[in-house]
Amino acid sequence: MRILVTGGAGFIGSHLCDRLLAEGHQVVAMDNLITGTLDNIGHLAGNQSFLFLKHDVSNFIFVPGKVEAVLHLASPASPNPTSPYGYPQLPIQTLKVGALGTHHALGVARAHKARFLLASTSEIYGDPQVHPQNEDYWGHVDPIGPRSVYDEAKRFAEAITMAYHRYHDLDTRIARIFNTYGPRMRLDDGRVVPNFIVQALSEEPLTVYGDGMQTRSFCYVDDLVEGLYRLLLSEEMRPVNLGNPAELTIGGLAELINQMTENEAGTRVLPERRDAADPQRRKPDIARAKQTLGWEPGVDLETGLHRTIEDFRIRL
Ligand code: NAD
Ligand code: UDP
Repeated sequence: MRILVTGGAGFIGSHLCDRLLAEGHQVVAMDNLITGTLDNIGHLAGNQSFLFLKHDVSNFIFVPGKVEAVLHLASPASPNPTSPYGYPQLPIQTLKVGALGTHHALGVARAHKARFLLASTSEIYGDPQVHPQNEDYWGHVDPIGPRSVYDEAKRFAEAITMAYHRYHDLDTRIARIFNTYGPRMRLDDGRVVPNFIVQALSEEPLTVYGDGMQTRSFCYVDDLVEGLYRLLLSEEMRPVNLGNPAELTIGGLAELINQMTENEAGTRVLPERRDAADPQRRKPDIARAKQTLGWEPGVDLETGLHRTIEDFRIRL
């Protein structure tokens, strides 16, 4: 297939481009580099099956030649209010790419009669009152809270994707991605895994917000990309959770990273991130992905962190 990947110079997008090329597809990566970087796709320069177009997808999209699938990943994704790459610093861009960007990406898919896959998020569940979260849960989102620019944009993106499916008969897929980590994440992305690894490799204490008892479930990027690829090839129109159900506390993650990097500086407790409306618990129920895609993550946290730490060590 000839596949358009929006957000193709980002962390997940660039790994996805690699995988699609390895499967023999042609890839057009479109990105405005607002949070991504050409370093992520530099190794693809000169590849005849790969084309990069620098473009903001919140504006009308034109892709020369045929398009058989559109994978829409463009969006800032870090909730950290102090990172220049966090969506709290990019609120209007985040709302626009989730709304206008998704509309344009759907428009390309419709014009080319192509299959469309939306990279949605566990954030559509907000600070969940159901645990673990399955796809039937409607979520608990504050429409005017600090995360709303991202959460509501993604909820709108799901809604307009379903509208194109129902009213234009577009062939659509919705992936609800849970916390994903791996090589190529920006050193200053602001999310917990890059923050902790950079701090640990610099022999500094790891900054834990609050009591560290809040939980997340971390999925290694190769596993996630496998799930996205299977979803693309499947016939599953309903949203599908993609994530690793192995849940741990943020305090536990800090301890593990300090141990793996032999960092003796310990942790530094910072006030709870009230300005970021930190969800207390998050864990995917992946029964649907298992059943319809035959997918479940295979890379355990220590193995994935080891690969990520080595990548960060080189870049630091
Ligand atoms: P990222 O910031 O590395 O990648 C996003 C890419 O989109 C960047 O390259 C950025 O420059 C590009 N982009 C943003 N706005 C754009 C626009 N208007 N036009 C063109 N390009 C634009 O983040 P990521 O972690 O790789 O996330 C990729 C996708 O997956 C996002 O849609 C995100 O919401 C979703 N997601 C990620 C996670 C995760 O844990 N990494 C979890 C849930 C959902
Ligand atoms: N976190 C932390 N220290 C950091 C960065 C994040 O303790 O330096 C915590 C944050 O408060 C949250 C969890 O780690 O509870 C995951 O945060 P992240 O920014 O990675 O994304 P989220 O899952 O909140 O969207």
